Amino acid sequence: MPPRAIGHPFEVPPAEGEAVEVAQGILWMRLPLPMKLDHVNVYALDEGESWTIIDTGFDSRRSRAIWQGLLAGPLAGKPVGRVIVTHHHPDHVGLAGWFQAQYGAELWTTRTAWLFARMLALDEQDRPTQETLAFWQGCGMAPDILARRRSERPFNFADVVAPMPLGFQRIREGDSLTMGGRVWDVRIGNGHAPEHATFWSRDDDLVISGDQLLASISPNIGVYATEPGADPLAEWLEACERLSAHSHDEQLVLPGHKLPFTGLPLRLRQLIENHHGALERLLERLQTPHTAVECFGVLFKREIGEGEYGLAMVEAMAHVSHLHQSGLVTRSLRQDGAWLWQTRQ
Ligand SMILES: [Zn+2]
Repeated sequence: MPPRAIGHPFEVPPAEGEAVEVAQGILWMRLPLPMKLDHVNVYALDEGESWTIIDTGFDSRRSRAIWQGLLAGPLAGKPVGRVIVTHHHPDHVGLAGWFQAQYGAELWTTRTAWLFARMLALDEQDRPTQETLAFWQGCGMAPDILARRRSERPFNFADVVAPMPLGFQRIREGDSLTMGGRVWDVRIGNGHAPEHATFWSRDDDLVISGDQLLASISPNIGVYATEPGADPLAEWLEACERLSAHSHDEQLVLPGHKLPFTGLPLRLRQLIENHHGALERLLERLQTPHTAVECFGVLFKREIGEGEYGLAMVEAMAHVSHLHQSGLVTRSLRQDGAWLWQTRQ
């Protein structure tokens, strides 16, 4: 059978402070983000006397105020008893600690997500570390951008993530949990964030996917100074293949960004093929040696502005590094500390 198209049963996202019921007892809401990707989706599942919420948005005065309005309005004054966080990125975990500290909510997430979030929230830096500077140099960051970022306060997790008190409930691959009147299987994704939780309803065709499964944008796959030898693209491709086995056309996927969608089998195939296409273009480009940054053109096929330079760089690094670890590309260190990658002849 030919793959069905990707569908969007809910075409209009909820306005700020409002909620859309996407299935019985499941509300979809949005929090703003001050970036090119200007929102994150969050969900509330009705537990009768309380709510389970999935993901939280950044910690900011504005987000807290929006949540307070949501709690009093669409959430009808019932408390949030449990916060489930899909992965450790700040747009998802940002207010988890606030819900714990202010409202006595429980935090449920994967062990890796919790450890990463709490570690990064405590790791405040006024200037980039030596390791980060060396890593940026290794990527081939443009000298003017490197010079400027060297003397600026870098992005700090703690700026947009509320302090996280001790204590969480671990969820892991193979668990099942009850929320919103349904039983959900936990399946773990990887590649965008390590040990990223997704939830698959046994009772109806719903999937809560965080950033593991998105419809109209491709989740960022990045290598960072924390683990320069990582191969997140291999982990991403493995997760896409594994999750494909559980996908079918009728599922409504509730993602962390953009619109809910159907057509998951096709979307997973696209997500895999996009990367294979990019890897082929890279092998061609690397017939002559280049840095990761010099591969922006073939990878993204558009101009990369400074606002997305950092994300583009870690994504380019993930792709060249994957080719290197697959044995298809060699690398050598240029005098200025940048890695030059070249397709093995
Ligand atoms: Zn996200």
